[in-house]
Amino acid sequence: MKAIIIEDERDLAELVAFNLEKEGWKTAIALDGRSGLELVKTELPDLVILDLMLPEMGGIEVCRAIRRHERTTAIPIIMVTAKGEEIDRVVGFEMGADDYLVKPFSTRELLLRIKAILRRASQPGQEEKLITRGALAIDPERHRVTVGDTEINLTSTEFKLLQTLAERTGRMQGREQLLRDVWGYSSTADTRTVDTHITRLRSKLGEAGEMIRTVRGFGYKMEVE
Ligand code: CA
Repeated sequence: MKAIIIEDERDLAELVAFNLEKEGWKTAIALDGRSGLELVKTELPDLVILDLMLPEMGGIEVCRAIRRHERTTAIPIIMVTAKGEEIDRVVGFEMGADDYLVKPFSTRELLLRIKAILRRASQPGQEEKLITRGALAIDPERHRVTVGDTEINLTSTEFKLLQTLAERTGRMQGREQLLRDVWGYSSTADTRTVDTHITRLRSKLGEAGEMIRTVRGFGYKMEVE
């Protein structure tokens, strides 16, 4: 497993690399956004840890560029922000990060987040049958989503979220429950993470996104008309 750490604070980057290597990871560090993006494109890592404020090219731009390219679009990204930076934008649908951490964070917290993300990315479902809901088709086996004839590119988290909602069509899903079942952790995460991922998912799905209904004060459910 290979991780790329894009972080201009060299000490922090090296600390993260050291801790990941202890867990058996291979790591590479880039100290600015532009060279980080190049590294991601050439190395195709299993994980990117991406600082928000970076020289040359900011974290938001790097994140978008990773999502834009077919070969890198599904690589999990953990965004790292300093306190006070706009977390809503970080996990916002315009960006595409899978998760975020606010500095200073503990190694333990980072490793927990990584484990949860990788579990989502690789988890083989028990029932890998094609799920169809209206014009929407979800193929868990091939990790493919289509609306009509159009293939939709989703991150691993978005995919898991959509699959979870579709499998439970007609049943309300609370934000905490979705956090637990899709993200794999509960107390540390923010329910806003769920909201921003839902927003992004709806926007990617276009009209089919309307099947994801907001249940006010509670959470979400999928409804097929
Ligand atoms: Ca920075």
